[in-house]
Amino acid sequence: MTDNFDLEHIWHPYTSMTQPLPTFKVKRAYGATIELDDGKTLIDGMSSWWCAIHGYNHPELNQAVTDQLQNMSHIMFGGLTHDPAIELGKILLKITPPSLDKIFYADSGSVAVEVALKMAVQFWTAQGQPQKTNFITTRSGYHGDTWNAMSVCDPVTGMHQIFGTSLPNRLFVAAPQTKFHQEWNQEDIAELEQGIQQNHENLAALIIEPIVQGAGGMRFYHPEYLRQAKALCKQYNLLLIFDEIATGFGRTGKLFAWEHAQVEPDIMCIGKGLTGGYMTLSATLTTKQVAETISRGEAGVFMHGPTFMANPLACAVALKSTQLLIEQDWQANIERIEQQLSQYLTPLSLLDYVADVRVLGAIGVVELTFNVDMKTLQQQFVDRGIWIRPFGKLVYVMPPYVITHQELSDLLEQLVDVVQTMQGAN
Ligand code: PMP
Repeated sequence: MTDNFDLEHIWHPYTSMTQPLPTFKVKRAYGATIELDDGKTLIDGMSSWWCAIHGYNHPELNQAVTDQLQNMSHIMFGGLTHDPAIELGKILLKITPPSLDKIFYADSGSVAVEVALKMAVQFWTAQGQPQKTNFITTRSGYHGDTWNAMSVCDPVTGMHQIFGTSLPNRLFVAAPQTKFHQEWNQEDIAELEQGIQQNHENLAALIIEPIVQGAGGMRFYHPEYLRQAKALCKQYNLLLIFDEIATGFGRTGKLFAWEHAQVEPDIMCIGKGLTGGYMTLSATLTTKQVAETISRGEAGVFMHGPTFMANPLACAVALKSTQLLIEQDWQANIERIEQQLSQYLTPLSLLDYVADVRVLGAIGVVELTFNVDMKTLQQQFVDRGIWIRPFGKLVYVMPPYVITHQELSDLLEQLVDVVQTMQGAN
């Protein structure tokens, strides 16, 4: 149960310090199991927010960290380099879009987004177009909690009201409406087209999460949107930034979500699953053209350099995690999870208080017609031995890829049962 010191002194994500939501103390975690302080075990449905793709306490990942620890846990990246950063870089260039060639390591997803936005602005300044400083994006997006990342999050769900005029003003267009499996509706691109047409002179880039809009609503949209968005960016001189921080490393059934559309961005952010959830690390990748243009500009350098840039421990575990992923038949495994998610969750769409059920890769979403009472629902899930963290109208799962068939069945049976017997469903 909730620890008193924790309750009184430690802030948790998006919570009040006077009326905090309960927290459950974790003793350890292994595979797809979270063990609480009182010995109770929970089957993990969240992968610690998209990260722990190989599950917890993985022997090979543990070993990679331990081995690196013998050499150095950290070393500054200014003027120094090391094998973990180099070897990780080599593997990242093999698995990301072919046109991406340069890698900037950063320390969290939000910072990777900040870096991407800064790259876009420096690119246009170096091109002699210093007025191209703003960004266009779609509603229902989520890109992180730092200042500029927040400014391109959905203006309604993304905290804009709280920060008001202190946030830079971005250009928002409707979220993509055609769902992933639906027939493409050409109307869907109209607002983006108009927005770009009318404002391109001041726009540095379009930033978007490809295929899956995550924390902004867990929405899966049609790949054609990205193909047309890319064409518009080309036509009107905007860079295209893909935020693959949530979608990367197999989660959507492709190694990265751009592959669903075969559209290559100019800049791409990755994070979360990069280290298998072991440590915080992200990267912003870009093309030769963008990097060389920035480097030719008046500044001559890219102006960013976090203290923990390319942290060797994080790079070493990221290298091992990525190797582990691509050396196995990860696609078949994601398909197995996808099938099981569909099998269990789809029947819920018959309930009149379920607005939608959708599954893509190892992501399963049940969208309700009302906002859930997080506190009550969370407790119910824990009582039933599963870890699912709902938000808004969404109850969703994205389990670690190591979850067994039996564990996933148990998790989904409990989830389905809770949704079927929801209080206040009317
Ligand atoms: N972009 C996307 C798409 C994300 O899902 C997140 C995290 N939820 C971020 C950026 C921010 O990453 P971080 O929390 O590591 O700063």
